[in-house]
Order: sequence, then C-alpha cells, then structure tokens
Amino acid sequence: MKGVAISVCLAALASLVLAAPGPPDPRFPKTGQEWTPESLINPDELGDYFEGDIELPLPPRARNGVIDQRYRWTNGKVHYQFDSSFSEHNKDKVRAGMDHYKSLTGNCITFHERSGEYDYIEFTHDNNDGCHSSVGKRGGRQTINYPTWCLDKFGSLVHEMYHALGFHHEQSRSDRDSYVTIMWDNIESGHEHNFNKYSSSEVSGFGEDYDYGSVMHYSAHAFSENGQKTIVTVDPGASIGQRVDLSHVDVRKLMSMYNC
Ligand SMILES: [Zn+2]
Repeated sequence: MKGVAISVCLAALASLVLAAPGPPDPRFPKTGQEWTPESLINPDELGDYFEGDIELPLPPRARNGVIDQRYRWTNGKVHYQFDSSFSEHNKDKVRAGMDHYKSLTGNCITFHERSGEYDYIEFTHDNNDGCHSSVGKRGGRQTINYPTWCLDKFGSLVHEMYHALGFHHEQSRSDRDSYVTIMWDNIESGHEHNFNKYSSSEVSGFGEDYDYGSVMHYSAHAFSENGQKTIVTVDPGASIGQRVDLSHVDVRKLMSMYNC
C-alpha cells in the first residue's frame, strides 16, 4: 500500500514537472524583451502592429513599394527629430542607419535634423512597445519606435526606415507564391493577416525580381506557433530574413522610387 502511495506521489510530481512551463526557448521569442542575438526571429517581427511593425492606416495602392507620389519624401530628404528619451549613444546608432542610406544611394536619400518642417519623423525609444513605423510619408509628425532590441540589430533599424521611405515587406509582393510557400498551419492563430499579399494591379516591384535577400523579407520562423517554419523558400538554397543591411536590390528599388 505504501509503495502504491509513493508511486502515485511520484507520478503526480512528474506530471507537475512536465506541465510546468519551462523558460522561453531563446530561439523563438514571443516579445521583443525576450529577443537575443541567438533568436531565429527578427526584432521587427515581434511587435503587436499590423505585420508586426507597421502603423495603420496603410497608404492606398500599396504593395511592396508605394506608387502614390504623395507618400514620398520630397527630393529624398527626410526630416527628423529625436524624442527626449534618446541618449547620445543611441542617437549615434540611428545616425549610422541614416549614413547607410546616404552612402549606398550616392547622397540621394538623406536625413536632416528638423528645423520647423511640417513633415517629419520623430524617433522614439519606448521599450514597452515594439519596433514600428508607418509606410511612406504620412504628412505631419510620424514616428519610428526603436526599443533597445531594435537599436541593437542594425538590419532591423534600417528595415523600419525603409518602411518610412515607402515600402512594405518583400513577401507581400503579388508574385511571392512563385518564390515562397506560406505554411499557414504553422502560423500563430490570429496572425495570418501578417502574410497578406497585395494584388498585381496595385504596384510593381520597381522592375526588380523577388529578392530573398531583402532586408524587408520576413524570417523563416516569423509568427510561428510551433517552432516550425512559416515561410519555406521555393529555391531550397535561398535564405531569408537577413537583418544585416540593405540588399543591392533594396537599394536599386529605393533609387528607382526616388528617381535617384
Ligand atoms: Zn517591417
């Protein structure tokens, strides 16, 4: 009888241990605060915004690049200011992103400290919020939020600026199904809309082919519910989701949009 009681106790204990939630798997963070450099998901894919990091409303007729000229920054000049929460050290990180655009576009896309201009980006540093941006110039003040985990990932920092310059995610292109397969069953419930694509009647990809290497492409595990891939490339050798820097194609599309 005693033996039975002990084994029942052990079984109960084992089930408690099994049921207890373990520490979060560092490869699959659910929030930006859980993000580490080992994560398989990018910082900009962890926000609660539309597609993770896009502030609504969307500009009309938007797919990968916005066609309507009103959503572009005049002459490629973007005015900005930092909110008061930015340290000089963090400002330098954002300015490194600005320099990346300026040098890769041959001084065509430039950022300028605001002195009273009506249209501008305010950079905010709110660690209780995800990385996010609007798509294109909205008119008046618009924000890009850079929590610490976004400032620490250069490609994500650059990614948010690319949204503000007028682009969507690469896998939103109408021709994406020829290049990637969306694994709908692996997507976290309620996040399916993050994998929308836009019709070919909307805008072109500025003459460029689908770019697996774009800084605007989701990673393979974005919004995964089960640790399985949500995006599988048709080309088995392709890798997606880099957040190192702008790809050559990203630069060409931007220069085409802004008539550089
Ligand atoms: Zn994004």
